[in-house]
Amino acid sequence: MVPVDRYFLAALLSGLVTEQLYLDDDSVTAFDATVERALSDPPRVVLDRTHFYPTGGGQPHDTGALRAADGDRVWRVVDVEKRDTVYHALGTAEDADGGDGEPPELPEPGTAVRGEIDADRRAAHSRYHTAQHLLSALLLDEFDARTTGNQLYADRARLDAAHDRFSDADLDRIETRLNELVADARPVSSYAMDREQAEATLDTERTRIDLLPDSIEELRIVEIAGESEGDEPYDRTACAGTHVENTADIGEVVVTGRETKGPEEERVRFALAEHVDED
Ligand SMILES: [Zn+2]
Repeated sequence: MVPVDRYFLAALLSGLVTEQLYLDDDSVTAFDATVERALSDPPRVVLDRTHFYPTGGGQPHDTGALRAADGDRVWRVVDVEKRDTVYHALGTAEDADGGDGEPPELPEPGTAVRGEIDADRRAAHSRYHTAQHLLSALLLDEFDARTTGNQLYADRARLDAAHDRFSDADLDRIETRLNELVADARPVSSYAMDREQAEATLDTERTRIDLLPDSIEELRIVEIAGESEGDEPYDRTACAGTHVENTADIGEVVVTGRETKGPEEERVRFALAEHVDED
């Protein structure tokens, strides 16, 4: 339920920015690219294509490394940010190879690099992000509570919803239902869809298409399958984040708490069972 970043997508569609490969395949964690620009203060590079996910839509950026294809130089990617294009912030020499902590020597434009994304961090984000889609859908279905915001991390997440108050019994029910949907092992897929077609065929309240500026003509739709083959999807939203391929890949989810966020707004906290301290 995270709206696609409007400004970025508009720029992407106008062909001005780095090709965002994760939009087509969010399971890839190693790829080849070429440095287009290198900037200092802070040190960062722009690539012609990237699988690194930049901070956005409530999902933190990937981390990882860029390795020169023709030698042993390696740069640590410590932040990824999208503005007019995608910037990969490079760590100090110490971050990369136990060096002296000085700013790294920047790669020259044209340098061929191998991008390596920290797979564990990415996988955690994809699991939490997919869990968030399930939670948003079930809160809308069963409580008529629309998602108003969300933030995920590699070890926890939270979601805000337009709702008066979730009782302890509600939270138990939400947790049980979430884990049923995980155990159902429902396929998760994504595809591009023409905006006009999306507006004509999808539930715009659910997909939040109405929040996107008119300049965006193509959307990325993320779909979680219905209970049986041939059923309507359980969830279908416009989203540019990363997700797992099947709800079973999320694993057990624990609803860890709630708090009042404002009038008619509740915040629900959740985590993967392996990230919850039982003490
Ligand atoms: Zn998403």
